[in-house]
Amino acid sequence: MAKTFHEYLEQCHRTYSCIHCRAHLASHDELISKSFQGSQGRAYLFNSVVNIGCGIAEERYLLTGLHAVADIYCESCKTTLGWKYEHAFETSQKYKEGKYIIEVAHMIKENGWGANEE
Ligand SMILES: [Zn+2]
Repeated sequence: MAKTFHEYLEQCHRTYSCIHCRAHLASHDELISKSFQGSQGRAYLFNSVVNIGCGIAEERYLLTGLHAVADIYCESCKTTLGWKYEHAFETSQKYKEGKYIIEVAHMIKENGWGANEE
């Protein structure tokens, strides 16, 4: 059954999609870092994402200090995917403000690009 998503990324681009419903989530071009840790394993930091809803920000102590973060979820299937950094209190962590973390466990790579292309 075909589903309609709010936004489609260019098909020629390497994209990440929601593993649960295949909604596009982010373009590989928007990937900033792969060296993040989520509650279920590895997580990636993205500059921008699509088809994502955002919860209410709250202050949390993370490994790198105090941050205001909001849970993000897939707008299509409502699965919680990761979080958004709304505010970083440590100067060294400011680069993460307004950026998005998606856990690898919730993403699949579209267009058949393989792990050895990373
Ligand atoms: Zn989804």
